[in-house]
Amino acid sequence: MRRSYKFLLRPTVGQTIALTACLDDHRALYNAALEHRRTAYRKAGVSIRYGEQSADLKHIRAADTAGQGRWSFSSQQATLRRLDRAFAAFFARLKAGHTPGFPRFKGTGSFDTVEWPSDGDGCRWDSQSEHPTTAYVRLQGVGHVRVHRHRPVRGVVKTISVKREGSRWYVIVSCDEVPAEALPATGRTVGIDLGVASLVATSDGALLDNPRHLAACADRLASAQRDLVRRKRGSTRRRKAVARVAALHAKARRRRLDGAHKAALALVGGYDVIVCEDLRITNMTRRVAPKPDGEGGYLPSGAAAKSGLNRSILDAGWGVFLTILSHKAESAGRELIAVNPAQTSRTCACCGHCARENRRTQAEFVCTACGHSAHADVNAAINILRAGLALREAARAA
Ligand SMILES: [Zn+2]
Repeated sequence: MRRSYKFLLRPTVGQTIALTACLDDHRALYNAALEHRRTAYRKAGVSIRYGEQSADLKHIRAADTAGQGRWSFSSQQATLRRLDRAFAAFFARLKAGHTPGFPRFKGTGSFDTVEWPSDGDGCRWDSQSEHPTTAYVRLQGVGHVRVHRHRPVRGVVKTISVKREGSRWYVIVSCDEVPAEALPATGRTVGIDLGVASLVATSDGALLDNPRHLAACADRLASAQRDLVRRKRGSTRRRKAVARVAALHAKARRRRLDGAHKAALALVGGYDVIVCEDLRITNMTRRVAPKPDGEGGYLPSGAAAKSGLNRSILDAGWGVFLTILSHKAESAGRELIAVNPAQTSRTCACCGHCARENRRTQAEFVCTACGHSAHADVNAAINILRAGLALREAARAA
């Protein structure tokens, strides 16, 4: 199994300067290689390939020993390969008849990762393994950087990446052959419904991860964004406002991840079979329907405008959560089944009566046929569980 670990780095002041220079130089390399491809194509109709650019690297490094020459050859090659992938994707979309945007030059804010494609080549994970308490990663041109290793790393380390997020630096360690950590069987099954008030409602009636803190984050984000549009381009105050928006986005992302990890862990620990919605279908059906304005056009959707930011944060949360859940389920040897969620929120789990009127509010479900009342998301989770078990049964019979 392949798996990535992400740890906070604790660089010294000098190392922070070196990391920033490393990122800037890789970005400059990316942009120069892009420029090279563009001019060659425009002036001579020639396509430059990765092999040629990689061969040029040697001369670039020799001519600039205090600059580009400081960094790992391999991480620079990885940057050139990244450009190559951008071009491959561009041509693939072109071929498919789309009108893709040409690969772009990267500004300071849009280039935040450097990758070392193999451990031991310009980088070394756990470079001071004899140190009793602290973990380090050695990066060529930067030195031994302290790592906040909050969990053990298992498997064989393959690639190492450094990523800047706002004012923080992270190392991402990607490992192969990570042993699965199978959990003992519990004999229990569960259905889950993804919601807005709680991230997850289970068929057993539990509500996991109340993302109220995300809503608070969304409010502050909205105010930071209003503040941002008032600032003049190029001003110091605008630069600070941009940093504030980015920091709040990063905070929302960390909280979402944390909540998703905890909810997924609870599910994988408690159940052998977990049934969830197929998110590809969910995202299509839950979109706010546009209202016709009576003159051939559409009214701006009030619901969408009001909760746009909130929803965008939560929507992203569902995808993140299901990704984490599927990884944990695989590692623990649990079965994860995705079902079509159509009608699950308006069908009575007690008698099967299906009507829109059953769902009175976002949270309240009262069946108009049998009077059964329940938390709307829990009711949906029970239906999801049934659909999943039926699907499983059918697959076994076939
Ligand atoms: Zn009913």
